[in-house]
Amino acid sequence: MIVRTKSPVVSSTLRLLLLAAAIAALVLFAAGCGSSGSSSSGGSGSTESSGEAEPAKSAATAAATGEVEAEWQRPRGEQNQVGYELLKASETRSLAKSLATVFELPNPLLIKGVNGFGGGPFYNPEDNSITLPYEFPAVVFEVISQSNPEESAYEWGEAVGAVNSFILAHEFGHALIHNFELPVLGREEDAADGIATVLLLKAEEGASYAAETAEFWVSFSGRQDPPALAEYADNHSFDRQRADNILCWVAGSDEGILQSFAENEILPESRLATCPSEWQLLRRSVEQVLEPHVKNGLNLTPGE
Ligand SMILES: [Zn+2]
Repeated sequence: MIVRTKSPVVSSTLRLLLLAAAIAALVLFAAGCGSSGSSSSGGSGSTESSGEAEPAKSAATAAATGEVEAEWQRPRGEQNQVGYELLKASETRSLAKSLATVFELPNPLLIKGVNGFGGGPFYNPEDNSITLPYEFPAVVFEVISQSNPEESAYEWGEAVGAVNSFILAHEFGHALIHNFELPVLGREEDAADGIATVLLLKAEEGASYAAETAEFWVSFSGRQDPPALAEYADNHSFDRQRADNILCWVAGSDEGILQSFAENEILPESRLATCPSEWQLLRRSVEQVLEPHVKNGLNLTPGE
């Protein structure tokens, strides 16, 4: 069933490029440091020198920080091949590089593409790496296409691109927590979802990206019905809780979305009532801890 990946790949590439550019542009704009953010989208080489930005512009420190390396295993079999193509099309490394540069990550970040599914994507603080198993995006594609058979391949591609970008932002959230030793008062996995949502909502279509990711978690949540004991013990919240948290933050960030979620019963009224204050608290918290790590401060006001 994962045969027609051509158009999803193309559309997710476009959207991810837009997202990377939007995040980089917005944060750089807010930070007031106009160093060259756009990379030359060059070939698909697995390694790339970090110093492509000319240091002639006095942005001397930018060349030393935000370094991202990528190691892609050769994909084995169809599932891995599909996932590999989806990740490459999603410009995963380029988005990671934009984020790492914006936040002046002090240590080189390593992106590892590996065969299989394992426990899904994860961040490892020991070597500051983000591991992305190829079968995960392949499963995301499968879940989305099966849950939305009436939609076009183009729409599936958009949704896969949205989920890929959220997952990367989530793993990058872990990287921020560990590189900057940020305080985490609660579960780190929920904090990473919160950071990812705040970052995504800075991009122009970020709210729809976050909402599409939440929709994926809802569709995927059937695997936890009923939850196994191991899932109660897991350090992640249940899929459905992750979805509802993300939806709550999105709704809390925008009065119009809040009203539409209420009319369409996307979340119960009782939860929606607290979403604006939940979002304000999340935004303020992320702003406070990240501000010192972005040149000239980080303005997280939603919108332009
Ligand atoms: Zn995580």
